[in-house]
Amino acid sequence: MPSLSSLPVATLGTPRIGPRRELKFALETYWAGKSSETELLEAASALRAANWARQKALGVTVIPSNDFSLYDHVLDTSVMVGAIPDIYRWDSGAVPLATYFAMARGSQGESATDCGHCHHNHGRGVPAQEMTKWFDTNYHYMVPEFRKGQTFRLASRKPIEEHEEARHLGYQTRPVLVGPVTFLKLGKSKDVSFDPLSLLDALLPVYVEVLRELERNGADWVQLDEPCLVLDLDDATRQALRRAYKRINESVPQLKVMLTSYFGELGDNLGLALDLPVAGLHIDLVRAPAQLGEVMSRMRSDLVLSLGVVDGRNIWRTDLSQLLDRIEPAIAQLGAGRVQIAPSCSLLHVPIDLEQEDDLDPDLKSWLAFAIQKIAELATLGAALGSGRKHVYQALAVSDAAAAARKGSHKIHDPAVTGRAASVSDDMRARRSQFAHRAEVQCEQFRLPKFPTTTIGSFPQTAEVRRARAAHAKGALSDDAYKRFLQTETAKAVEWQEKIGLDVLVHGEFERNDMVQYFGEQLSGFAFTRHGWVQSYGSRYVRPPLLFGDVSRPQPMTVEWWDYAQSLTDRPMKAMLTGPVTILNWSFVRDDMVRSEVCRQVALAIRDEVLDLERAGARMIQIDEAALREGLPLRQSQWMSYLKWAVESFQLCSGGVADETQIHTHMCYSEFNDIIDAIAAMDADVISIETSRSKMELLDAFKTYRYPNEIGPGVYDIHSPRIPDVSEMTELLTLARGRLSDAQLWINPDCGLKTRKWEEVRPALVNMVEAARQIRAIGRLDQHHDLRPGAFCDTK
Ligand code: GLN
Ligand code: ZN
Repeated sequence: MPSLSSLPVATLGTPRIGPRRELKFALETYWAGKSSETELLEAASALRAANWARQKALGVTVIPSNDFSLYDHVLDTSVMVGAIPDIYRWDSGAVPLATYFAMARGSQGESATDCGHCHHNHGRGVPAQEMTKWFDTNYHYMVPEFRKGQTFRLASRKPIEEHEEARHLGYQTRPVLVGPVTFLKLGKSKDVSFDPLSLLDALLPVYVEVLRELERNGADWVQLDEPCLVLDLDDATRQALRRAYKRINESVPQLKVMLTSYFGELGDNLGLALDLPVAGLHIDLVRAPAQLGEVMSRMRSDLVLSLGVVDGRNIWRTDLSQLLDRIEPAIAQLGAGRVQIAPSCSLLHVPIDLEQEDDLDPDLKSWLAFAIQKIAELATLGAALGSGRKHVYQALAVSDAAAAARKGSHKIHDPAVTGRAASVSDDMRARRSQFAHRAEVQCEQFRLPKFPTTTIGSFPQTAEVRRARAAHAKGALSDDAYKRFLQTETAKAVEWQEKIGLDVLVHGEFERNDMVQYFGEQLSGFAFTRHGWVQSYGSRYVRPPLLFGDVSRPQPMTVEWWDYAQSLTDRPMKAMLTGPVTILNWSFVRDDMVRSEVCRQVALAIRDEVLDLERAGARMIQIDEAALREGLPLRQSQWMSYLKWAVESFQLCSGGVADETQIHTHMCYSEFNDIIDAIAAMDADVISIETSRSKMELLDAFKTYRYPNEIGPGVYDIHSPRIPDVSEMTELLTLARGRLSDAQLWINPDCGLKTRKWEEVRPALVNMVEAARQIRAIGRLDQHHDLRPGAFCDTK
């Protein structure tokens, strides 16, 4: 559409991984020693060139540079400013690729490729930097590590080089940097605790140096990402933002800064953001559409506003006409010269190209937009706003038709499901009796020893298991042969668990590809992509399920496997399910219904499964809510309402069973203080949590709260290949006994064992069972028994 005048169209950032995961393969080949550094860097620069060309061809006028990263953009920033901890032995020259990857993966690389969370030094090489989730996304960044009083200096010229690279190819780009305040706030210190913001004055000169050089090289705008602007901020942070942007403005006055906020509303930080001396402000109008009015009424007349109107966090096509109806009046009021059109946030968080999805249902496909399709939407919006809707009437007509079809489609709307969800009553969520009574009944029934031992569900997903699954998917292995293979694996696992003396067994989850996908594939309302990869961290990408319609469960999903496994043993076999909140948080979720409502539908489907398992004879049923905590809203003021529906969804899954049926849950984190009320309200009979690395410290939250139900604090750090010995585990258990009553305690690993090898798991679990035996032999050390009213049981 070259003849049309368009409003400026920006993308803020694009996926780096390549439409066919080119970056992953280039990295892995390089790490395996099968390609040279030059080859890796050439592959990276080809990806950047293709990205720029694609955006240009689609009509983007504000093209970003430095949005690319070999591993992670926060790590790039640490390296840029020379925040490189001593263990990586950087000697102040240009940072070698080996150093960069040592920070990303550890110098041996082995443990980090497995779990990504492991920052232990296993005696050889150096550990990777810690990583954690980027705001409320499923993207993980490498946590910057600071020392008190440390200095910074320009150690990587990546932003400058990539801007130059684009210029040589004929693109004038707007370089993107993580803003200095967000960068410091994301970091932490490993030794003495101090406020990283105290390093701001030391850090700013490096930013200024980069900005100056970009300006010298012809950049007229830069994009500084300060997503911390959507968080609850303390005064020190607000002060830091003022200082930082004042300093930048004074030092590089000609360079225009587009300051971006995203993932939520500016809220009480709005005044602050509008006061900063920057040329432009980006606001997220997908998460927070209502803020537009207030921003407009309070903004300076010379500020450029970047409207984040296309959803950068989800895969739905934008209803373009409806959006235009909403923003045209605002733009008329502002004047076209003061507006840019953009996605709500970088497109990093969505898959790249819908056109590659040949197997998707055509109707569903017509309702979706991945990054490339979103860029085309932005261009259409820019043209409609710059030249009038009639110039893009065809694109608008397609969008209108898609919106209308989606609204009315029977593929999405199932009256039976919505009717049932609407008639959920409070009593469906409540267990029949209080925990104290249930505990007695269950205790009578199971007659477990004190400190019962169990595991979290999965056993190693070996190469053999994955090969069989792939062969079955390709049709090379028949349904029957595959099932027999899985039965053999399950039987071996059950027999082995019995042999080493575990008290409560699991079937091993060999039939599951992934704890969410496995259920999504069997539920109505879900679809899956073939190439819809999104970066999780480094070279690890995921393909989240698409939860597109009303969710129901056509038939039992796990009963047959549970039944088979239980038939092999007299010990209790725990059934294993994934909870509704986790299913939601790890999927792309429909945007035409509030999340709480979608979650309730999923909960009803899981409830059906729970009741079928109970009918089939399962007496212990575990509902994993691994992602419950990470779904917490960014603003504390919204926590209550989230936790309310999250807890209610769990209760809806579990509330229908008899007192005899023991409900377990598992959660993968190491921070419970701020959500302990919600955890208690879930009222699971047994919860297993990750505690080994924190040395049981997180049990303090349970102790202070006087948490009444049973708990399995992890004693085996499964994120590391290390095999813990017996004494380590008895020490951890002793620490746990100092905080909880003996009658509450279970013994289990931190999490599922699917990422580990059998050679590690076997000795570790043998040691764990031995640790239980030794702890039982020591006898009662039960100072806290009074904390557990009613739930006393002789056999434990
Ligand atoms: N049951 C799952 C497993 O053992 C739980 C994993 C998780 O919560 N991350 O793998
Ligand atoms: Zn876990």
